[in-house]
Amino acid sequence: MYGLRRRKGRLRLDLTIDQLEAALGIQRPSPPPTWIQRAACRGVDPEVFFPDCGDSRSAQAAKAICDRCSVADACLAYAMKRSELFGVWGGKTRRERMVLARQT
Ligand code: SF4
Repeated sequence: MYGLRRRKGRLRLDLTIDQLEAALGIQRPSPPPTWIQRAACRGVDPEVFFPDCGDSRSAQAAKAICDRCSVADACLAYAMKRSELFGVWGGKTRRERMVLARQT
């Protein structure tokens, strides 16, 4: 329980960190999903998965890795849920994810 108290001419607000974060709308980052441990892209240069706009060659390199990834479905679902704007996730580029989102 939080409260506002007056003491010696001063106001004192007692609240927990959780209450402060909730009041300010701060969201803590969630822990990484467990499937990441089995991702085929572990150890691969992240730039491969975040190519410059229109760099289809890099996107193809990322997609080739995703093709042999055992957690591609979970990865794609994660990206779709978070509306990831950048990168290749689950073998899909941003544009491909947008098309998928419109279809569901
Ligand atoms: S699907 Fe691709 S981006 Fe997702 S975890 Fe697997 S290799 Fe990485």
